[in-house]
Order: sequence, then structure tokens, then C-alpha cells
Amino acid sequence: MADYDVIVIGGGLGGLSAGALLSKQGRRVLLLEQSDRIGGCCSTFERDGFRFDVGASIVEIIQPIERVFEKLGTTLQKEVDLIACDPMMSYIFPDGSRVTYPLSVEETGRIIAEMSPSDGLKWREFCAFADDLMNVTLDTFFQMPASTLGDMAALIKKNPRFLKFLPVFLSSYQDILEKYFKDEKVLKTMAYQALYFGLPPNLVPGPYAMVPYSEHVGIYYPRGGMIRIPEALERVGTQLGMEVRRKTRVSKVEVYGGRASGVVLADGSEITTDLVVSDINAKTLYLDLIGEEHLPTPVVKGIKSYKLSISVPMIYLGLDAAPDLDGHHSVIAASPEDVNRFYYEQVLPGRLNDENFGLICWPTHTDKSLAPRGKHVLNLIPQGFYHLEGTDWDTEKPRFIERTINNLSKSAIPGLKDHVVTAECATPLDFERQLLLPEGAIYCLQQDLAAQAVFRPAAKSKSIKGLYLVGSSTHPGGGVPSTIASGYIAAHLIEQMES
Ligand SMILES: Cc1cc2nc3c(=O)[nH]c(=O)nc-3n(C[C@H](O)[C@H](O)[C@H](O)COP(=O)(O)OP(=O)(O)OC[C@H]3O[C@@H](n4cnc5c(N)ncnc54)[C@H](O)[C@@H]3O)c2cc1C
Repeated sequence: MADYDVIVIGGGLGGLSAGALLSKQGRRVLLLEQSDRIGGCCSTFERDGFRFDVGASIVEIIQPIERVFEKLGTTLQKEVDLIACDPMMSYIFPDGSRVTYPLSVEETGRIIAEMSPSDGLKWREFCAFADDLMNVTLDTFFQMPASTLGDMAALIKKNPRFLKFLPVFLSSYQDILEKYFKDEKVLKTMAYQALYFGLPPNLVPGPYAMVPYSEHVGIYYPRGGMIRIPEALERVGTQLGMEVRRKTRVSKVEVYGGRASGVVLADGSEITTDLVVSDINAKTLYLDLIGEEHLPTPVVKGIKSYKLSISVPMIYLGLDAAPDLDGHHSVIAASPEDVNRFYYEQVLPGRLNDENFGLICWPTHTDKSLAPRGKHVLNLIPQGFYHLEGTDWDTEKPRFIERTINNLSKSAIPGLKDHVVTAECATPLDFERQLLLPEGAIYCLQQDLAAQAVFRPAAKSKSIKGLYLVGSSTHPGGGVPSTIASGYIAAHLIEQMES
């Protein structure tokens, strides 16, 4: 008999959600996390009395997360104190002027109409389209595998309205936005969100264009930091018998007779298992931990052909006063063409630019407990990338922090630099070292149309028996709700297929 029924590699959201659900099925689950902290990209650390979120800064589209906690016999709301964020987003234009969208769809429509009456009218139409698409996606993609044509047929059978949206998959995020909106300023309030998926608006698949609407359905912040979500999954999972070992790195997946049969740890010890669930980058899993010798040549070629997703730097600031901002999230507004240009003229050649736009997260706007009394936390996601032309991140880091703070102090957040009491930065290279994300790829693999659904590595491995994938590398891709949903999908497949 194997040491465990299931070994989960990686304690990110996908691994924790799968591990907890498999424990609920009565399986003996061991989850191995190489770091001393769980949650991966959705985690929180403490420095100088401030609590900083490692990566993810809010959660939206919470239905898949609610489904997992319900399946575990509890509720998301009982396990995590979610605070609703309102306003939804504040947009800061290069001249320092701002437009802030509240959560209310109607009120946002009125604000858009002030910028452009015709776009204000189109906002309602856009919301109806995006709401319909979101509900169909929640009913299908977030609950079911999409690895084979059979899976796709099952998905369509479950919700035939899915077919209506097929043309949307062939359009880009930008196509969809420009179908509804014409005003340049209005478009500047919706283009940045394409980067949530790691690509510019002209390459992100059309269905993701629902996000400028879906954020109005509700965005939340867990009191105490984003780590409260993985902590809740761990707590409920361990109550159900899941064992979690931190500081335990898996260096090899053992394969005998085409079946995953155990893991080898970095210290050389071996643990046997009936099933392996991987929450790590699929390229690392197949090419390094399993090894090409266990895979058919076309599979090796296929895995190698995946491009890694975008990476970003994060700057974590502790402030001695509240920043001059309007809400939890602000964005330096940019048009779809600005964002496309950033990708082609900066990301691809590796050129950092002083005029970067980016996301500004002010979590203490929502939860004061993250900082000492009267102080504040500010997390910045300026645009950056792994490969830098003629330099490297260890050299650039101090200059990058200083330049970003100085640039923001000019017009976006006046006076910012006078209030910074602590500053840290996780560069793409740091994400690679700390979370073992190759090239700091935050969504593991690129999320263009060629790497979606049937084209993304399958939840149930097609080449190794007893191996399942969760997390950003597999369907439905990166993001808090998607990776938690991937755990649900894998656990359901295992329940059906592995007695
Ligand atoms: C800067 C940033 C901002 C983001 N903002 C948002 C947001 O606001 N909203 C949102 O929805 N999403 C956001 N995301 C995306 C979201 O956080 C991720 O998609 C999601 O958390 C990834 O979960 P995962 O299951 O793929 O695992 P990961 O988070 O990648 O975790 C994998 C875990 O595996 C461990 N591991 C790796 N190799 C090994 C090994 N060999 N042995 C043992 N353990 C190993 C790692 O240490 C890590 O803990 C953001 C991501 C980043 C980086």
C-alpha cells in the first residue's frame, strides 16, 4: 500500500482546493509546499508591522470559491471575512485628473455618459452581454474540464447557450470593447484590465472582456490579507485529514509503467502515492520533475511549445499617512493602443520605461488592521518583465523602486515619496527564486487562444496515468477564482475516475 492516496505538489490555491476536496472524499492526502508559507501568489507576509500581499490584491467572481467551500461542508463567508470594496476602481489620467467608478452599474453608467453620452447608452448593452457571458462561463468553464472535444461537447450540452458565445472566442478583448465603446477616455478606463490576463488587449481572448463589468458584480478583500483564503482552505482541509508540510520541495515525480507512483524530495527521501496532483508550472512538471524519458516525443514538443506568461514586479510600501487616492484599486489609465505598445515596444524587447502605467492597491483603505495605527499599506504593480535588455533585476531593483515612487509622486499620488517609511520589491527574478515560478511567470503559461481550454495542459494528464494538474497551468487558467475552480474540477474528475 502506498504511503498516501494523493500527493499534492504546491500549496497555491489550486493545490489547497484540490487537497481539501480530496480529503473530503476520504482520501489520505499529503500536500507539499517548498516555501515556509502557503498560498503562493495569493499570500501575505509581515514586515516592520505592515502586512503586504505577495501578489493577488482582491478577489472577484466568488461563486467558484463559494462552491468549493460548500462542497467542503462549510461556507466561504463563514471561513473568510470578506469586505466588499467600493468604489470598484479609480482611473488616474496623465494630467492627474481622475474618474472613479463605484460598484453600482447604474451610477457607473451615469459617469460614462458624462464623458460620452453615446457610450453611456452602450454601457447598458455591454453589461447585458457581459452578464450573460459571465453566467454561462460560471455554469460551464468554472465547473467542468475542457481538455478534450468530448469535454467541450459535455460543456455545450450542459449549457447550450455556450454556443452563442463561440464567435466571442475568436475576437480579442480589444475587438469586444471597441464594438461597444468609441470614446478614448472611456476606453482608457477599460483597457488596463486586459493585463490581468497577462497579454495586451489585442491578444487577450474576447471572453475576458467581461471583466470591466464583472468587477461591478462584486470585488472583495479578505480581512487580514489575501492569505486568509488559502489559510481557510488549509484549515478546513486539515480538519478533514489533509496533511500539509511546508519547506518541503519536490524534486522528482516517480513514474513506473507510465503511472505516477511517488515523489522524491529535495533531501532525497521518497514518498509513495497512488495519485499525484500538481499545482506547479506544467513545463517544470513535465520537463524537469517527470522527465522527457517518460513522455512521447509529440508531448515533449507540445509542452516545450507553450510560452511562459507575463511576469510583473511588485513594490510594497509602508506609509506614515493615508495616500491621496480614491479607493482600494487605482490604475494609471492607458488606451488599448498604449497597452499594446507597452507589450510590443517594452515587454518583448525587455526595455523598462519611466512612463509606466500600472495598478495601485491601497488595502488599508479597506482593512485598517494591515498597518499600525495611522499608517498605511500601498502595493504597486508597475509594468515590468523578466528579461531586461542589457541589465538584470538585481542591478535594477533599487533604481526601479526609487523611479516608480518618484514618478507616482509627480501627479498620480502627490506627496507619496515624503511618506514612505518602508519599501520592498519582489521582482520577476524574486518570484522565480521564492515561488519557483519559471521566469516569474505569474499565470505559468501564456493565456492566448492557442493555450486555452483543449489547448491548455489537461487537468487529467493525457500521457501519465494517475497525474492531475491544477492551478494556473491548466484550465480555466490564472486568477484566484479560476485556480480554486481548477481544484474543484480535478477533485471531481478523480472522484469519477479513481476509485
Ligand atoms: C503580482 C500578482 C498579482 C495578482 N493579482 C491578482 C488579483 O488581484 N486577483 C486575482 O484573481 N488573481 C491575481 N493574481 C493571480 C493569482 O494570484 C494566481 O493566479 C493564483 O494565486 C495562482 O495559484 P496557483 O494554484 O496556480 O499556484 P501558485 O500561486 O503558483 O502556487 C504554487 C505553489 O507551489 C509551490 N511550489 C513550486 N514548486 C514546488 C515544488 N517543486 N515543490 C513544492 N512546492 C512547490 C510554490 O512555492 C507555490 O506556493 C495575481 C498574481 C500575481 C503574481
